[in-house]
Amino acid sequence: MNFNKGLVIVLSGFSGAGKGTIMKHLLDKHKDAYHLSISATTRDKRTGEKEGRDYFFKTKEQFECLIEDGEFLEYANFNGNYYGTPKSYVDSLVEEGKDVILEIEINGALQVKKIYPDALLLFVTPPDAKQLKERLVGRGTETKEVIEQRLDLAYQQSFLMDQYDYLVVNDDLDECVERVHETIQNEKFRIHRNLNNIEIMKKELEVFSKGDN
Ligand code: 5GP
Repeated sequence: MNFNKGLVIVLSGFSGAGKGTIMKHLLDKHKDAYHLSISATTRDKRTGEKEGRDYFFKTKEQFECLIEDGEFLEYANFNGNYYGTPKSYVDSLVEEGKDVILEIEINGALQVKKIYPDALLLFVTPPDAKQLKERLVGRGTETKEVIEQRLDLAYQQSFLMDQYDYLVVNDDLDECVERVHETIQNEKFRIHRNLNNIEIMKKELEVFSKGDN
């Protein structure tokens, strides 16, 4: 089967739902299957992060120039910083038939869906709200105020979840990673994504049915 264009896969989720961990395991286990889009951001580099591996770190001015030049597929302001997906990287991978994953927040995800209506939108969530709260509290790294802010943001985001294609329920990590992989792979065989292939098959069958070959 010939997939002419690659699939754009967008992974979003509540803060504390474990989307970063899922992504890491997915890319470790299936490194040949996916390409990861590296975003640009104006937020400060955290300890252990590397330019070009985790993000392309930009100043506000640099980022705004890139916006002006139309260099982003989408961008959003999150927690007072810009985040954006470089357009040319994603576009060229899709043209080459490669599947590319974007780990981005919800406003950016919905912008991507407008540009790539065939994009597959996955939303990571714990099994229920109580577990989200427990995970945020359990990290022990955030103040009560920050936890409340995260839960309030999650509440607001819950109103947009219905615009995604699949929920990714992060219960058991390994199972969850495999479900994400299977969901993506199955999605590639959806009829509406394969109308070209069906046309090719029809034409080939027409020839065979006439006994010419
Ligand atoms: P962090 O600062 O923790 O790395 O990321 C904060 C949020 O920004 C996360 O929800 C992450 O998914 C999101 N994010 C990362 N890159 C992008 C991007 O290119 N565009 C958008 N819209 N969100 C992004």
